[in-house]
Amino acid sequence: MADVKAVLAWVEHDAGRVRRNGLEMATKAADLGRALQVPGAVVVLGPHAEQAANVLATTPVDIIYSGPDVPVDRFLGDPAVDALAAIVEENGPALVLLPSSNAGRDLAGRLGARLGAGVATEATDIIVRDGEIVVQSPKFGGSVTVSITFSGSGTKIIVCRANSFVARHEPGRGEIVTRGPVPAAAYPARIEETVAAEAGRQSVEEARIVVSGGRGLGGPEHFDIIQDLADALGGAVGASRAAVDAGWISHAHQVGQTGKTVSPQVYIACGISGAIQHKVGMRGAGTIIAINKDPNAPIFEFCDFGVVGDLFAIVPELTKLVRERKATS
Ligand SMILES: Cc1cc2nc3c(=O)[nH]c(=O)nc-3n(C[C@H](O)[C@H](O)[C@H](O)COP(=O)(O)OP(=O)(O)OC[C@H]3O[C@@H](n4cnc5c(N)ncnc54)[C@H](O)[C@@H]3O)c2cc1C
Repeated sequence: MADVKAVLAWVEHDAGRVRRNGLEMATKAADLGRALQVPGAVVVLGPHAEQAANVLATTPVDIIYSGPDVPVDRFLGDPAVDALAAIVEENGPALVLLPSSNAGRDLAGRLGARLGAGVATEATDIIVRDGEIVVQSPKFGGSVTVSITFSGSGTKIIVCRANSFVARHEPGRGEIVTRGPVPAAAYPARIEETVAAEAGRQSVEEARIVVSGGRGLGGPEHFDIIQDLADALGGAVGASRAAVDAGWISHAHQVGQTGKTVSPQVYIACGISGAIQHKVGMRGAGTIIAINKDPNAPIFEFCDFGVVGDLFAIVPELTKLVRERKATS
């Protein structure tokens, strides 16, 4: 039997706006807590944490730990590790869920070392089987899924892929517990300045519509037509690794095995062949539309709608039609 006494999910937010994977992880923490008959809780830290806590109170979690005075915006991972470790020590041993973001992965290593806890990464599902926690994680580009269990007792850490769990709302259930600041420590590294890379742009992981470009675009300047369609649809721009490796667009846009996992309602792949490493990052989309001039491109084997043709003719026309329809609706 798993010996944990709580399930705790650390949730990221942007100035109080909870990221989509935070809502997914909160729901998963609550469901795992119920399956293990222990409280399911979330931890939200830093400025505007109160705002995020109010949003998280609409999910099925039992407790929301809110630490608005924990200076996660001024130092690297250390204050978050201190705050989380203290909560785990009070409630533990615990099952800790962290997002598979840069900060989440950083925290997983630091917290694992601090608590001597095992870390399972890239979880796409977590189940309780005969009282044991079993983590599902895809390997080899998604061609196999391995089941991971933890040996020994104590706190266990799981890094969860975005868009793996379904978020649910059950307002009025969670109790908000406010945490004080962590004791002042001489942290070795301080954040001097934060610069938003692409202010105002949606991230591919959060967007409901993603329009992606691949090598078929032929050059960085042609990402403009992808951006235009994404803007017309209110979506975000994604890319294949070929486009990212060519330096046409930043890695933040890459979808796939070594990029982001997305599950938008609609995914439009333009000039992307559909390699398995790309497919594993977008196969969870509600509707997949492919535009490719090669009728034998692998993407036509798994898309919902396929258009065989030149993207330079089709994408601008599509953008025009979307804009016209918006203007008349
Ligand atoms: C370990 C590993 C990890 C990887 N991780 C990732 C990952 O995270 N994400 C990822 O995407 N890939 C990843 N890859 C790379 C992957 O195998 C493919 O090489 C890559 O996805 C190909 O990108 P692409 O489809 O843009 O390019 P290509 O395979 O070259 O396809 C370009 C497509 O554009 C079409 N095209 C060309 N011109 C036009 C036009 N004018 N109109 C319409 N269509 C046109 C062509 O017919 C072709 O199908 C990884 C590979 C490895 C080995």
